[in-house]
Amino acid sequence: MSIPREVQASVAVAQEQRFQGELTIRSCERLREAVIADAAAALQVDIRADARSGWPRVHGRVSGRVDLECRRCGQRFAHPLDLALDLRLVRDEAEERAVLADAEPYCAVDDRLPVRELIEEEVLLALPMLPRCESCENDIANAPSAPQESSEEKPENPFAVLKRTLKTHQ
Ligand SMILES: [Zn+2]
Repeated sequence: MSIPREVQASVAVAQEQRFQGELTIRSCERLREAVIADAAAALQVDIRADARSGWPRVHGRVSGRVDLECRRCGQRFAHPLDLALDLRLVRDEAEERAVLADAEPYCAVDDRLPVRELIEEEVLLALPMLPRCESCENDIANAPSAPQESSEEKPENPFAVLKRTLKTHQ
């Protein structure tokens, strides 16, 4: 089953519609700009709409793998994705503000639920701001940190320590 571009939010919730299937990266206008979009690149989607928790929401999982380009070395690397979605559907900004403390709201303007766009947005939010491959990530983690003034004692020169030790034993 393919993921619909858009459904009616109230109908999706009332019918407890489930959206399950593959979403190709190429069909996502914004996402395909942010990642390396091969013809085969796709996300597995399994989300549903219902109001079983007492309020209308869209929830489920989006998983898969996107290929990114490392900002440091330019190499392509795979970035696994496994997102748990839980969005509370609201109708306007006032409602959005009201639920913000308890849930992640999604504003279904005019009862429209743009399913693909919603998934795309969530995936974009989950991508690293600065994509870096694993080896660059390790390089950075292991690099000596920049010299900084600290109150900590500097490690003693081992020769100085040895000299002092020899002296005391003389
Ligand atoms: Zn790299």
